[in-house]
Amino acid sequence: MAIEGIDTARCNGCGACVLSCPADVIRMDKDAKKTVVRYPQDCVVCCWCIAECEQDAIVLTPIRTAPLFTAWG
Ligand code: SF4
Ligand code: SF4
Repeated sequence: MAIEGIDTARCNGCGACVLSCPADVIRMDKDAKKTVVRYPQDCVVCCWCIAECEQDAIVLTPIRTAPLFTAWG
């Protein structure tokens, strides 16, 4: 599985998921005061964002798995 999106009805814009993500997948939409999944292909399925979200607003896909190799830079 991997991150697929944010349930905006649940998200309160706290930003905890943005700070927790080591792959910079999630960004804050300052106008909407909600987070958005900007780079889903970079998700390494660490699940830190899920652990941090008290609103249970992170939507996962059961299909995609973590890439075998991830390049940074
Ligand atoms: S941690 Fe949850 S509630 Fe907070 S910004 Fe992220 S998705 Fe929204
Ligand atoms: S599972 Fe990990 S890499 Fe993927 S969006 Fe959440 S914190 Fe980022």
